[in-house]
Amino acid sequence: MTVAVVLYTSDLRVHDHPPLRAALDGAQEVVPLFVRDPAVDRAGFAAPNRLAFLADCLADLDRALKERGGRLVVRNGDTTAEVRAVVRRTGAGEVHLAGGVTAFARAREEHLREVLEGDGCRLHVHDGVVDVVPPGDVTPQGSDHFAVFTPYHRRWAGEPLRTPLAAPRAVRVPTDVRSDRLPGRSGIADVSPGLAVGGEREGRRRLAAWLTAHGDAYEQRHDDLAGDATSRLSPYLHFGAVSALEAVQRARKRGGAGAEAFVRQLCWRDFHRQVLAARPGAARADYRPRHDRWRRGPEAEADLAAWREGRTGYPVVDAAMRQLAHEGWMHNRGRLLTASFLAKTLYVDWREGARHFLDLLVDGDVANNQLNWQWVAGTGRTAGPNRVLNPVLQGRRYDPDGAYVRRWVLELAGLSGPAVHEPWRLTGPERAAYDYPDPLVELSEGLARFRRGRETA
Ligand SMILES: Cc1cc2nc3c(=O)[nH]c(=O)nc-3n(C[C@H](O)[C@H](O)[C@H](O)COP(=O)(O)OP(=O)(O)OC[C@H]3O[C@@H](n4cnc5c(N)ncnc54)[C@H](O)[C@@H]3O)c2cc1C
Repeated sequence: MTVAVVLYTSDLRVHDHPPLRAALDGAQEVVPLFVRDPAVDRAGFAAPNRLAFLADCLADLDRALKERGGRLVVRNGDTTAEVRAVVRRTGAGEVHLAGGVTAFARAREEHLREVLEGDGCRLHVHDGVVDVVPPGDVTPQGSDHFAVFTPYHRRWAGEPLRTPLAAPRAVRVPTDVRSDRLPGRSGIADVSPGLAVGGEREGRRRLAAWLTAHGDAYEQRHDDLAGDATSRLSPYLHFGAVSALEAVQRARKRGGAGAEAFVRQLCWRDFHRQVLAARPGAARADYRPRHDRWRRGPEAEADLAAWREGRTGYPVVDAAMRQLAHEGWMHNRGRLLTASFLAKTLYVDWREGARHFLDLLVDGDVANNQLNWQWVAGTGRTAGPNRVLNPVLQGRRYDPDGAYVRRWVLELAGLSGPAVHEPWRLTGPERAAYDYPDPLVELSEGLARFRRGRETA
């Protein structure tokens, strides 16, 4: 029997899975393998929400493989050592893996290649499993990546895409390969109470249901905080439970302005991935240094704590931060305005905010989180690096009736209409009736401080 190994990482699905297809085409038996590697946790993955969602995804992948006569093999340990052990046990001649963009993923690929080649086994790294258009496929003249989104999008949108692959009918797994127990959700502490259910089946269901119910209106409604009309597919995309390429193809097939706007957002995901692939250091270092003199010390620490806990005194900021704590997910408009509030109005280093997001976000992703933070903080290549979002105007515009704020900031639930965005305007006993903090800082003061710090004035 010829055997191939499929090493799963952030591609936890059976539909549209080029490594699985290639392995099945090239061998009679396949070992679908997932390694729970403590090094991945040490690199910052081990946030409770993502571990819980991962457990769902692995259980669902195992179910899907079992339906096809196979199973998922899970091993706890060092990735290279475990892959090598499986290769030696089965005599596998090939290992298939989806290509990654982080420095961690790149180093893992290199190490695997070296070790496996020494054992006479070939490593195949497949592009276009996690992304729609792989990093490096479209580049501007004279550079290895696009630094600006619009020209990238133009080129990206014209790229020919492959047809999504069907899920295999059968997967034969050698019987004598041992598996550790699948990790479960139970025993993971501090999971957000409103965390979504993970897995390919749920992701595919959501994609289909969302395209039908909300796809057409996406362009008009994607910023509507209370309407919550975006796809919420980000965690499924992050874990690869849904193929981004298939999502694009299905949206395009549907057509219309809503579908195109949704596809454009998926392009943002690839955009950040190609930046990170070319500049792995941008996960930490400013992509474009602005020589910031970020606030530090006890006062800045206290402001950061208030921001994390959703008690800045700006209702729409607090609502979004509380949504993050409760669901492990936040609406994109919320991410934009809370990030602007921290990095600009409070003038606290964007890395502090990005770390908090990564601690909680179920879709927390090095490329998309760090680079979106940089873009909002103005340390990325963005058209308006010093633009500051005004949380009151943002609230009035994207939550005109105040329903989003009332949903998350229960202390203010008794305030009707847009007045909920400015509780400090109330006076006397009316104000005293609301147990809600005063704003941490006046917006004009925050703006002046940011300008002084960045020397933009
Ligand atoms: C400060 C900040 C931090 C962020 N951190 C992350 C993160 O860690 N992980 C993450 O997946 N997204 C991140 N985003 C991007 C975006 O907010 C989320 O992808 C989106 O809110 C997820 O909701 P949705 O699936 O309903 O999106 P939809 O509006 O339905 O969009 C569809 C898909 O497009 C992609 N997408 C949408 N907007 C963006 C964007 N700005 N950048 C990259 N991809 C995008 C996502 O994969 C999303 O699932 C961040 C944005 C900001 C401003």
